[in-house]
Amino acid sequence: MSCGKVYIVGAGPGDIELVTLKAARLVAEGDVICYDHLIPLELLNHARPDAEVISVGKFAAKHTLPQDKINALLIEKAKEGKTVVRLKGGDPYLFGRGGEEAQDCVEAGVEFEVVPGVTSALAAACYGGIPPTHRDFTPHVAIITGHRKEGRQLDIPKAGTLIFLMGVSNISRIISSLLEAGKSPDTPIAAVEHGTRYDQRVITGTLENFEEKLKAAQPRTPAIFIVGRVVELQQTLDWFGKKPNVLVMGNHPQRYAYLGNIVHRRIIDCVAVDDYTEADETIKHIAEFNWIVFTSVNGAKYLFERLATMKLDARALANAKIAAIGKTTAQRLREYGITADLVPQDESSVGLVEEFKKLEMSGSKVLFPQAEVASKVLPAGLTELGATVEGAIVYKTIDIEPPEVDFDYIDKILFTSGSTVRAFTKHYGKMPENTEALALGIPTQQEAKKHGIEAGIIPPKANCS
Ligand code: SAH
Repeated sequence: MSCGKVYIVGAGPGDIELVTLKAARLVAEGDVICYDHLIPLELLNHARPDAEVISVGKFAAKHTLPQDKINALLIEKAKEGKTVVRLKGGDPYLFGRGGEEAQDCVEAGVEFEVVPGVTSALAAACYGGIPPTHRDFTPHVAIITGHRKEGRQLDIPKAGTLIFLMGVSNISRIISSLLEAGKSPDTPIAAVEHGTRYDQRVITGTLENFEEKLKAAQPRTPAIFIVGRVVELQQTLDWFGKKPNVLVMGNHPQRYAYLGNIVHRRIIDCVAVDDYTEADETIKHIAEFNWIVFTSVNGAKYLFERLATMKLDARALANAKIAAIGKTTAQRLREYGITADLVPQDESSVGLVEEFKKLEMSGSKVLFPQAEVASKVLPAGLTELGATVEGAIVYKTIDIEPPEVDFDYIDKILFTSGSTVRAFTKHYGKMPENTEALALGIPTQQEAKKHGIEAGIIPPKANCS
């Protein structure tokens, strides 16, 4: 008996933050990840570097892999003793054929578990501003497939709200079936396309005029249709559609969530350096430093990884005081058992130099765990204060090609550093019209200007207390 196992996992409707903790853990652990195209693709970044990641996605017309082949693949990999994570959009048991995959596992004698997901049927309604049930409108909801073999009318259940999935190419038949079942022509109906994603769009109408309105709007898939009086609440409850969409390319994008819906496109990745000989020499003498300055989460992550490789840990830093540029870095250090002695209010190199000016730094030895290419502002500032500065190169950054963005749906672009300005220009070209540019600080604002972008300084988070 092999100890492989199949996890049939719901990955939610598209917004990465709607992925469950359990799904995220399994993706990080899996030997084999089989996914379909409706999952949030960023989730795959959490897979192990050595995991086998296979697209078995189904596209409306062309099936990349037929269902029986998918099932056979899951079973074959599990029988090799592997942990197989079968990632499916939304919930695996709601029109996801998860039930069939589970049955095949049982038949093949392969162990399986199922992780429910946030279904698009409810999430797209929610992000579209429509609660499927409401005490003033209806106590019941039915979720129905809009997909029917040619020529057949749909069975319309008796529920106050009807939610159709897989219906875009079949909307005429859905509407005629609803009218035949006795629904009034003025019954409200809405489409929510690309639900929970930044390019979500909601189209509303009545059974009478909807087909025409939808056609004029050129519908996109995936989409759900919601039929019933609850659709009347859409304008009032459209919380998601009313928020601006903000493109962010730097790290920790959710830090800026107060600006709107964050659309994250990564442009750089951090990786280990090829040769640690020099860094290891410096780390061996780490006890001689008076200060260790962490300018980023990655500096902390890679230094501690290196210490672990050298069979050392946080105790090696016991002689030094610790500075961290930002609260996020300080938080990460706490995970390694270190509470930073100095975290400047102004989370920048300049801010940290200002803090060091208040201390006696002359004659101090300062270590920077850093990237191969790093800003010189801080080391220069400290040298001026009489400190001796040394860098330990523990990681490097590499450019990555960011996925496309539909700028029709972007309201603001936030530049968090000079490198994000340069990457934006390189990958996306000019600043699109009717889009507001924001910069995190003055140096970034100046870099934007050099590229012909007039950026305002990011507003602080409003304090509503
Ligand atoms: N198991 C999935 C549904 C799979 S069937 C779930 O629980 O969500 C595929 C259908 O789901 C699509 O045709 C579409 O109707 C719907 N769908 C999936 N993702 C969607 C999204 N982000 N927005 C709107 N509809 C979506």
